[in-house]
Amino acid sequence: MRILFDRIPSVCPLCQLAARGGHLCRGCEHQWFEQRQQRALCRSCGEDLPALWATACQCARCRVQPRKFAALVCALDYGVGGQALVQMYKTQRQLALAALLGALMARAVRPVLRQYRPCAWVPVPASQARLMRNGFSPAQQLARVVAGHTAIAWRLDWLRLASEGAPQKRLSRHEREVAVIDRFVAHSAVRNRCIGVIDDVVTTGSTADATAGALKAAGATEVIVLACARA
Ligand SMILES: [Zn+2]
Ligand SMILES: [Zn+2]
Repeated sequence: MRILFDRIPSVCPLCQLAARGGHLCRGCEHQWFEQRQQRALCRSCGEDLPALWATACQCARCRVQPRKFAALVCALDYGVGGQALVQMYKTQRQLALAALLGALMARAVRPVLRQYRPCAWVPVPASQARLMRNGFSPAQQLARVVAGHTAIAWRLDWLRLASEGAPQKRLSRHEREVAVIDRFVAHSAVRNRCIGVIDDVVTTGSTADATAGALKAAGATEVIVLACARA
């Protein structure tokens, strides 16, 4: 079905030139997706590596301030095109773009999955206030699409905001023992598992680091973070 759908003529959401299956046209895909994926990037922070360290998996920045996640992968460069796509999706609520963005994220993370294979994708939870304002959770929709492309499950309840947690009495003793790290609480089901966190845009990486901290405190072995764009 997907192969058939991928051949249907469509219009590139960025430049309005001919495309197929709702994807970007060749030119836009090369400029905003492929060019980023072909560069030497730091696995830990997603920033460009200086040529000197092109084979290193961590940059000097990350060695000074180690991250709690093992890898950070971002699909798009946050230049004009990447920014426009993210805004069309998040702010203008063009929900159909989740299919395009999620597919690019799945392609970007493929090399990393050979080393770290998460047992589930977990979206960064949105606050109730933000959900009410936006009407949808961008990360949640992306997690659903990425899960489909990578044949890995996605779990909504494995990570939640500490301030909006389930009432204590509904939690098992084991769950209560799981520490609240920063803003997030992870479910005890993550114990001894590799987990993939899905976010829309990574800026400083502090949210990604906080989610990884909560998941690891609950026993996750490794955490990788997959985002739509690196701002
Ligand atoms: Zn285009
Ligand atoms: Zn780095």
